[in-house]
Amino acid sequence: MTRYGPVAIVGAGISGLTAALCFARKGIASDIFEQTSALSETGAGLQLSPNATRVLTKLGLAPQLEQIWSEPSAICLVSGTSLRPIASVPSGAFARDRWKSPYGVLHRADLQRVLLAAVEAEPLCRLHLGARMDDASRGALARVMGKEPGLVVGADGVWSKVRNCVQGSGKARFSGNVAWRLTLDEASAPAMFDASNVTAFLSGGSHLVVYPLPRLRRFNVIAIVSGRDPNGTPGRTLPHGEARKQLLAAFSGWHPEIVDMLRKAPEPTVWPLYEVSDGAWHQGEETVLIGDAAHAMMPFAAQGAAMAIEDAFELAAFAAGREPLAAFADHRKRRIARVRSRGAFNRFAYHARGPVKLGRDLVLSMRRPESLAADFDWLYGYEPRD
Ligand SMILES: Cc1cc2nc3c(=O)[nH]c(=O)nc-3n(C[C@H](O)[C@H](O)[C@H](O)COP(=O)(O)OP(=O)(O)OC[C@H]3O[C@@H](n4cnc5c(N)ncnc54)[C@H](O)[C@@H]3O)c2cc1C
Repeated sequence: MTRYGPVAIVGAGISGLTAALCFARKGIASDIFEQTSALSETGAGLQLSPNATRVLTKLGLAPQLEQIWSEPSAICLVSGTSLRPIASVPSGAFARDRWKSPYGVLHRADLQRVLLAAVEAEPLCRLHLGARMDDASRGALARVMGKEPGLVVGADGVWSKVRNCVQGSGKARFSGNVAWRLTLDEASAPAMFDASNVTAFLSGGSHLVVYPLPRLRRFNVIAIVSGRDPNGTPGRTLPHGEARKQLLAAFSGWHPEIVDMLRKAPEPTVWPLYEVSDGAWHQGEETVLIGDAAHAMMPFAAQGAAMAIEDAFELAAFAAGREPLAAFADHRKRRIARVRSRGAFNRFAYHARGPVKLGRDLVLSMRRPESLAADFDWLYGYEPRD
């Protein structure tokens, strides 16, 4: 056992479950405390880029995941007003070859199930469901664990309570963007929905991402719109018809086929997007934050879960190597800052209007798909500290 064991992990989302498996891989036992009594995620898809799947492969989860995800052939940018292709980054076999790991899309509940099964099969992991830890101090955790934890890991998401135990930690702030999520069954999907690709439809102030969820025979649809917080908890359903009304207002002026799809699709759920951008991630050698608790970010680069997965893997490596938490935080903060700026760039490019939009389309149309792919080498080709 290292000086960090036993570890108390608060939150059994993607970051908490992955962290428990990463610690176990290093021979470190953990207790995981999750507030809900059954793990489930209100329906939405997840893109897992090669930097995330590399970690999941190291954890031995690739065989299970390959059966339930699909590997899109390309990530395509398409005009939301004319449906004209703007650019595409190859994926599929190209991703496996260039970044030595696959790019997969799946329902996030499926990933959660695979992680959960691995945690339950791992003797070094003890999962406590229905265990809400509003006080994540060592004393409070010791009362439940029977002994003081060597390390407390806050993996409890954007509204983290563990942050209260970290002096100078960040705060969740509304980002100025709202996501609307829905899934659409394959049979009623419009022809422009491409089951072999991830497609991002772009227009001024908003964009729409569509990709297949083959196990469910549905498409995942996420609309991201600049706007005010509709004052809702994430995943909330607005009064009947209200969500559709707001969404149609945001997409007026888009191509009629997209507007028609939104008019006929199931009512979306609303996700006001909050981010945690600065602040401390650790308190001495006692407590550390990972995933959304440390650095919730906008989904413009589809990297929030990927960063949570990388955090978990590298935290276990630093802990097993007996390196200080400050070294872990410095190391991860540099990576997160770079990913965040890529997300900010995507936001600027995706939501561009007028001349900026024309310039974007011109520049992108002149670049070959392989050259666009090279822009992602630092992100998707990342080898985490092991
Ligand atoms: C619209 C949208 C699309 C996205 N798409 C992608 C994508 O394609 N790819 C990608 O990589 N990322 C994506 N993300 C980001 C990704 O969903 C998050 O970054 C990721 O889920 C964060 O995982 P987490 O485990 O840190 O936090 P969470 O998933 O929030 O998990 C926190 C867990 O802690 C539990 N918890 C909270 N408080 C307590 C407490 N007091 N006691 C005990 N348990 C507690 C919660 O119940 C929960 O289970 C997207 C996000 C959004 C909003």
